[in-house]
Amino acid sequence: MSPASWQRGIARILARDEWSRDEAVIETHAADKWFARSRPEFVALPRDASSVSRILAFAHRHRIPVTPRGAGHGYVGGCVPMKGGIALSLARMNRIVEISPKDFVAVVGPGVITAELQAAVEKRGLYYPPDPASRADCSIGGNIATNAGGPRCLKYGVTRDYVLGLEVVTADGTRTRLGGRTHKNKTGFDLHRLFVGSEGMLGVVTEATLKLLPLPPHRACLGVGFASMTAAIRALQAVFAAGLLPCALEVADEFTLAAARKRTGSARLAGCSAHLILELDGQPASVRGEIRTAARILRAFEPLFVDRGDGADGCEKLWQLRRQFSYALRDTGLTKLNEDVVVPRGRLGELFRLAARIQRRHGIRVACFGHAGDGNIHVNLMVDDSVAAQKTASGKALDELFRGVIGLGGSITGEHGIGLAKMPWWPIAVPPAADALHRAVKHALDPLGILNPGKFLG
Ligand SMILES: Cc1cc2nc3c(=O)[nH]c(=O)nc-3n(C[C@H](O)[C@H](O)[C@H](O)COP(=O)(O)OP(=O)(O)OC[C@H]3O[C@@H](n4cnc5c(N)ncnc54)[C@H](O)[C@@H]3O)c2cc1C
Repeated sequence: MSPASWQRGIARILARDEWSRDEAVIETHAADKWFARSRPEFVALPRDASSVSRILAFAHRHRIPVTPRGAGHGYVGGCVPMKGGIALSLARMNRIVEISPKDFVAVVGPGVITAELQAAVEKRGLYYPPDPASRADCSIGGNIATNAGGPRCLKYGVTRDYVLGLEVVTADGTRTRLGGRTHKNKTGFDLHRLFVGSEGMLGVVTEATLKLLPLPPHRACLGVGFASMTAAIRALQAVFAAGLLPCALEVADEFTLAAARKRTGSARLAGCSAHLILELDGQPASVRGEIRTAARILRAFEPLFVDRGDGADGCEKLWQLRRQFSYALRDTGLTKLNEDVVVPRGRLGELFRLAARIQRRHGIRVACFGHAGDGNIHVNLMVDDSVAAQKTASGKALDELFRGVIGLGGSITGEHGIGLAKMPWWPIAVPPAADALHRAVKHALDPLGILNPGKFLG
C-alpha cells in the first residue's frame, strides 16, 4: 500500500481533528528531549480508546509502524518514530476520570500531566508520590511506559508500585483491561505490570488506575555540605544504619557544586566537595524527632554546614539548590550527556571512583548528582564540542561507564529507559536468555513488530 493510500485510509476512520499531516505537527512529533530525530509520516491525535483501537487495527492490517507518544519529554529517544509511519500521540486523552478518597485510587487518561494529577489529588488530602524532575511536563502514560522515578522513590517506590490496573490496546487493536482497582490482587499473572517500562513496544496504555496514599502532613529537610565525597557517603550510610528511611536523599559532587556556586553566587558552597539533601515526611511530632536524630548522625561526619528547613516552604528553600544543578551544568557551555546509571547502595563510593577514573582517562569532565539513597546517580559527561577528540572520547567514556556499572552489579538505566540512547549497550545489559524472553513476549503481543520499531528489540 502506498503512503498516500494508507494515509487516506486511516484519515477516513478518524474524526478530522484526530489526525494531522501538517509540517509543523510532523516536526514536533519527530523528537523528544534526546538528540535523535526521525519524522513520522502521519500524526494520529485520538480522543479516546476506541479511536486508538481503530488506528492499531488498521496499522496492523497494513503493517504500518506506530510509535506511541506521551508528552515527548523522554531522555532517550523512546518516542522517536525511527521507521516513520504513525506517531500516535496520547496527549489529548488527558482527563482525570476519577479521584476516589474512599478507595485511594485515581483513574486517569494516559495524557494527564503528572504534576497536574499530583496537584489534584493533594487538594483532596491524597498523595501520588512518583516525582520525575520532568513532572510539570511529562505524562502518566509516558511515566508508565518508562517506569519513571524521582527523589521520593527512595521511600515510596517508582511508578510501577502505583499501577493497579490498566486499559491497553495491543498491536492488533484488541482493547483489554488488566489488573483492577484494589490495592491487592492475585488473579492470574501480573500482566498489567508487563506494560510498565515496556517503552511503547507491547501495547498502548489508554487508561490507568493508580494507587494513592494519604498525604503526609509534615516534611522537614537537611542540606549538608562536606569537604569530601567519602565523608558524605559514610554519613548517608550511617543514616540508614540508624533505622531512618528518608523520603529523599540526594547527593551532588564537586563539579556540580562549583557550577551551582557560579550560577547562584552562594558563598555557602565554598570549599564544598559533596552535598546531601535529606528529607523526612510523616506526622509532625515524628518528623521533628527524626530530623533531630538525622542531624545528629550527620554532624558526626564533620560537615562544613548543616542547614535545616521545616514545612513545605522551609524544604523548598533547600531544594532550590538541587533544582539549579541542571541549569548550572548547562551554563558551562559544555554538552551534557546525562546517564541515569544505578548501582547497589553499598557500591556508591565505587561508582564515584569509576566516574573520577573516566574523567582522568578520557579528559572529559564528569559531573555526578542524583538519588544517592537508591544508588541512582546521574553521571553527566560534560563534552566540549569544540574539541574534535572529545566527541570520539565520549563514546569510549560511555562504554567504560556502562561496563563499569554492570561490573558493580548495577544497571545502565534506573529511570529513563533504553530507548535509542542505550541501545548499543542492550546486549551487555541483559544475558542472552533474558534477551530471548523479551523477544518472545514482544512476538506474542506484536507478532508483526509494528509497535515502536527500530528500538532495542528491532
Ligand atoms: C528535564 C528532564 C528531567 C527528567 N527527569 C526525570 C526523572 O527525574 N525521572 C525519570 O524517571 N525520568 C526523567 N526524565 C525522563 C522523562 O521525563 C520520563 O521518561 C517520562 O516518563 C517521559 O514521559 P513522556 O510523557 O514525556 O513520554 P514520551 O517521551 O512521550 O515517551 C516515552 C516512552 O513512553 C512511550 N509511551 C508514551 N505514552 C505511552 C502510552 N500511553 N502507551 C504506551 N507507550 C507510551 C513512548 O513510546 C516512549 O517509548 C526527565 C526528562 C527531562 C527532559
